[in-house]
Amino acid sequence: DVMTSPLPIRRLTESLINKIAAGEIIHRPASALKELLENCLDAGATSIRVTVKEGGLKLLQIQDNGCGIRKADLPILAERFTTSKISTFSDLSKIATYGFRGEALASMSHVARLSVVTKTKTETCAWKAHYLDGVLVEGKPGQTVDPKPCAGNDGTTIIASAALFPYIQLKRSASDEYARILDVMTKYAIHNPKVAFVCKKVGSNTPDLSTPPNADKPQAIRMLYGNAISKDLLHASFGAKKVQEAEGVEDVEMADAEDTNRPESWSAEARFTNPNYQSKKMVFLLFINHRLVESPRMKRALENVYSGILPKGASPFVYLSLQIDPRDVDVNVHPTKKEVHFLNEESITDQITSRLQRALAAQSQSRVFEYQT
Ligand code: ADP
Ligand code: MG
Repeated sequence: DVMTSPLPIRRLTESLINKIAAGEIIHRPASALKELLENCLDAGATSIRVTVKEGGLKLLQIQDNGCGIRKADLPILAERFTTSKISTFSDLSKIATYGFRGEALASMSHVARLSVVTKTKTETCAWKAHYLDGVLVEGKPGQTVDPKPCAGNDGTTIIASAALFPYIQLKRSASDEYARILDVMTKYAIHNPKVAFVCKKVGSNTPDLSTPPNADKPQAIRMLYGNAISKDLLHASFGAKKVQEAEGVEDVEMADAEDTNRPESWSAEARFTNPNYQSKKMVFLLFINHRLVESPRMKRALENVYSGILPKGASPFVYLSLQIDPRDVDVNVHPTKKEVHFLNEESITDQITSRLQRALAAQSQSRVFEYQT
């Protein structure tokens, strides 16, 4: 209908504004889980156990054995922009490139009820607290909102439940969400093979994902993606020249003279299948500065490399971990965007693909050689 006279503009309530903003960051259970996983890894956890009900739409629980949260910090834990990870403006350019800068738990508390049980090494007992809409709330009606002492191991357990994603729920299927949760966990488990990961459904005794501690990447890939991939896996570590920083002075070996005024500084680790492995769909894991991200440009470039090597319709497995100077990652891209952009993206992508191309070519050459002898 065409409006003949305008409707009045109304101010949304604070609560609705917060929910809309939170929904932009926490789109779905898997995006919440990703934030929670990164918090566990930041806390130095070596064991992360996830329990899920209805694909995380009803309940998402994550337990780690990391450093814990100080009791004194619990009152502001779920407030926006409260973080232990940065404190000054200059810190921002160093680490907060796509972190949530203290927004993840706050956002979650606007779309779910959070319960936290946490214990640091120095504390004699664990502390339990509940949050809704950014603030401490009572565990049960009539109880105090103050954190309560309880039994618990060193580390942190966070439970997001009840009102979890009430309006997201309408559009999502539990099995699809669970598949996404397992996918995110699988990828973080590959990238962090020293850490033991477990994921299971509530009430189930058999985990759907389980990795041991202290594995290495090839082992993790074999356990999670199977022997077919792992037996045909190549490995390459490479990068542009290092930038050594001493009191703000950059001591630089030029990476590429024809490049811009600023030399590149990055390194990459790649695990990728040789031409013997052929799958219907490409499996591509991309981590930039240890955060799982998507880069359609990088994916397309890698597909092109393999399209010259594999038969039509066949695809590879590629794991790529890129470390880029955080100052070169575009901080203007909203943190929730999984797609990232970084300085010299085209050049870095080219260098990576040509490096993989060479490794793959060398591989097929050696195969030819084997056949000839
Ligand atoms: P950020 O990770 O950007 O700091 P979050 O909202 O994800 O923001 O977390 C806020 C703070 O809560 C963190 O800085 C950290 O101090 C603490 N925290 C969250 N999860 C954990 C955890 N699993 N173990 C220890 N500390 C945690
Ligand atoms: Mg976080």
